Amino acid sequence: MTVYKALTIAGSDSGGGAGIQADLKTFQELGVFGTSAITALTSQNTLGVQAVFPIPPQTVGSQIDSVLSDIGADAIKTGMLFSAEIITLVAGKLRQYGPLPLVVDPVMIAKGGAALLQAEAVEALRRELLPLATVLTPNVPEASAILGEPEIRSVEEAVEAAKRLFAYGPRYIFLKGGHMDGDEAVDVLYDGTEVRLYRSPRFRTKHTHGTGCTTASAIAAGLAKRLPVPEAVAEAKRFITAAIGSGLEIGGGIGPTNHAA
Ligand code: PLP
Repeated sequence: MTVYKALTIAGSDSGGGAGIQADLKTFQELGVFGTSAITALTSQNTLGVQAVFPIPPQTVGSQIDSVLSDIGADAIKTGMLFSAEIITLVAGKLRQYGPLPLVVDPVMIAKGGAALLQAEAVEALRRELLPLATVLTPNVPEASAILGEPEIRSVEEAVEAAKRLFAYGPRYIFLKGGHMDGDEAVDVLYDGTEVRLYRSPRFRTKHTHGTGCTTASAIAAGLAKRLPVPEAVAEAKRFITAAIGSGLEIGGGIGPTNHAA
């Protein structure tokens, strides 16, 4: 039996809805064996992020070495990287062990406003990680922050933003439209020539914690299974749509999406 393997390099969410925990649950649901290298611990629940404890860069590197020198990975996903130092370390390890299919989720700010990436680290993300990415998966605010441009308000503006993001080096840009207004959530996939749009109905739910992490790890699971990127994205879109559609009412705040939907 072929065992497909994916490594997530990301932050821990003690509340179980986002970060490493979301990634590993998603890999498992999609039939991929998940491994992890933790970049930061967060004390977190449905009410928000109470504390962030970054892991020393060498300790992040040690975890990546342990996984990739023995188990290996068919795809890698990066999430919360927190600092320029961790980004530089991770990019170096990816170059050392690569090239491997790589999904870069440019995690920056949690829904409650907590910084998951230091402001001065955005340049390191642009310069060191984006050129290595097979797929970059920003939401609308993250796309604006990477480009240093104002808010994206329409699908047309999202398509133009995806084209400008492509210049930073990822093979594909998957720009998620969930933060824009409208009855549909429209996402844009751009590969340098073709624009593909992925549409889904917009759910009126507040339980959307962890949607970004889950989408990116579902794409990584598809790449690990050797799916072409547009198919991996389509599978991820189906997965996240079902997960949001049955978001979990746990805790007193914003509940997580249901990975087992
Ligand atoms: N916590 C961690 C560790 C994350 O990686 C992320 C992901 O983006 C979040 C929290 C943010 O979760 P959300 O903004 O979906 O609530």
